[in-house]
Amino acid sequence: MPYGTLYLCATPIGNLQDITLRVLETLKTVDLVACEDTRKTLQLLNHFEISKPVTSYYEHNKMTKGDVIIQQLKDGKNIALVSDAGMPGISDPGYDLVQQCLAEEIPFTVLPGAVAAITGLVLSGLPTDRFTFEGFIPRQKKERLQYFQNLAQEERTMIFYESPHRLKDTLETMAEVFPDRTMAAARELTKKFEEIVRGTPSEVLAHFEAEGIRGEFVLLLHGAEPALPEERDIDWAVNRAAQLEADGISQKDAIKQAAKEAGLSKRDVYNFIVQNR
Ligand code: SAM
Repeated sequence: MPYGTLYLCATPIGNLQDITLRVLETLKTVDLVACEDTRKTLQLLNHFEISKPVTSYYEHNKMTKGDVIIQQLKDGKNIALVSDAGMPGISDPGYDLVQQCLAEEIPFTVLPGAVAAITGLVLSGLPTDRFTFEGFIPRQKKERLQYFQNLAQEERTMIFYESPHRLKDTLETMAEVFPDRTMAAARELTKKFEEIVRGTPSEVLAHFEAEGIRGEFVLLLHGAEPALPEERDIDWAVNRAAQLEADGISQKDAIKQAAKEAGLSKRDVYNFIVQNR
């Protein structure tokens, strides 16, 4: 019997209308739905009047349960994998099952749909041409500080997931590391109380301190301004030549190379060195 297919299906991140026709069709036709929280997925299936067996596949049983699901796929069963919200595999179980499918040459495909990160990015109004998804932010203050410091030079827009319980601490750390940076906090995306708050980290924090912190959040941070290219003037060329000489290159070749890198004539660099000896 040929192997079945694993369908990684995106489900809504709040608004049930965001399910796609293709996901509904697939959920109706597969043999089994693997999901994080069976109660949540049964609610979704019931809402769309789909009756299907469900099985749990979540962070803490994925090692053992993955093997069971793989065996069922090998037995020819078609299986849908959904998470509690959005795209499986994005800060949710899914990646490991994909690895197992790759290893066992089991076909799998992805049915696109809602993803909180991308929805928040576009809503933020921050640059979308280049961005990086950073997932969840470390919980401990020391690690969080180091984590943001490591991202200080990142020029692309950064996308983070954060829980409401940690939002205040996280915004405080962001205010410390990025006092003047523009950011956005996207709350309750696609839901009735969807909200986007833009400003510096301190401004965003002040807003939520005043209004209260409720719901799920995507945080978005403007990238660092690109570092200005170093000005390569005659002083730069002289220092560069000295550096090359110290590395063991002859003075003649060092001047030639430094002048070339600076876009100057080697005679000018040589004369400058001689005159300033
Ligand atoms: N797989 C999901 C996706 O594709 O976006 C993400 C799952 S991750 C476990 C859950 C996190 O996603 C939440 O803590 C929050 O940061 C973000 N999130 C999910 N739904 C959201 C929503 N409606 N509004 C804002 N953030 C949301």
